[in-house]
Amino acid sequence: MYFGGIEAGGTKFVCAIGDENGKIYARERVATEDPNVTMANVIRFFQNFKIEALGIASFGPVDLNKESETYGFITSTPKPGWANFPFVKTMEDALHVPVGFSTDVNGAALGELYFGAAKGLDGCLYITVGTGIGAGLVARGQLLQGMSHPEMGHILLRRHPKDKFEGICPYHHDCLEGIASGPALEARWGKPASELENNQKVWEIEAEYLAQALMQYVLIVSPKRIIMGGGVMKQKQLFPMIRARLRELLGGYLDFPELKEKIDEYVVPPALGDNAGITGALILAKQAMEKEQVSQA
Ligand code: ADP
Ligand code: ZN
Repeated sequence: MYFGGIEAGGTKFVCAIGDENGKIYARERVATEDPNVTMANVIRFFQNFKIEALGIASFGPVDLNKESETYGFITSTPKPGWANFPFVKTMEDALHVPVGFSTDVNGAALGELYFGAAKGLDGCLYITVGTGIGAGLVARGQLLQGMSHPEMGHILLRRHPKDKFEGICPYHHDCLEGIASGPALEARWGKPASELENNQKVWEIEAEYLAQALMQYVLIVSPKRIIMGGGVMKQKQLFPMIRARLRELLGGYLDFPELKEKIDEYVVPPALGDNAGITGALILAKQAMEKEQVSQA
């Protein structure tokens, strides 16, 4: 049985054909341009295959409320052409299969939970530190969804005493995403994040902010495991720094092995690497098919 998956990002869409075990048989990268151009390329890819259902893990914000008139839309993005884009409907009309839909980070959280770094658990938190910062949480097998999907990248933090950077978030200036995303690092230090590898001060400040964010996530949603992905986390030296600082910040308040001797297994990189999101999209496809079967029974 074949499923289709789309990981929709701000620079590229990854389209894939895979199965219920997360195995990928074909994939194609489509540039994120005007929606008409991008979607024509995406649809052309899927028309070459027979799939049972499609899953979409999309950049956001997106409307995930099934009761809403704009369910399945990308909503308020500043990306030209994509605001109020009816993503789910476009794909349903083109492919006539059930379509599952969630955020990119929710997809990555599902992918890692089923087949990656959180396999065997019933929940995890996946955070991406890339062009933006966002996180998805699964608890007791369910993605956390309230009024909307969580926006854990836009939280406010205590500023590092050595850091006076004003931040680049257009909404909040110095929220986490505004001071710790890849573009924030580049704006603060004047060079792309990937070229700052040997500058110790950069990573000390970055680890401070990410550890503060994890502290809040631990205290508020108590994730079973935390998986940190995205371009900036390719700086592997961040992991031990974040773990040590997280422990310090928590101050021994929570007495769990995950936050003490087992912290190396608690805050981890994605086991699926860059495939976390697309694998999650395939899981969303399978779930959409199952939901359709139940509603027809
Ligand atoms: P996206 O968030 O668009 O899906 P990525 O997760 O790859 O894509 O994030 C891109 C960001 O990550 C860019 O701002 C880039 O500067 C940063 N980045 C990419 N590679 C590295 C690296 N090796 N070290 C530090 N930062 C990196
Ligand atoms: Zn913000």
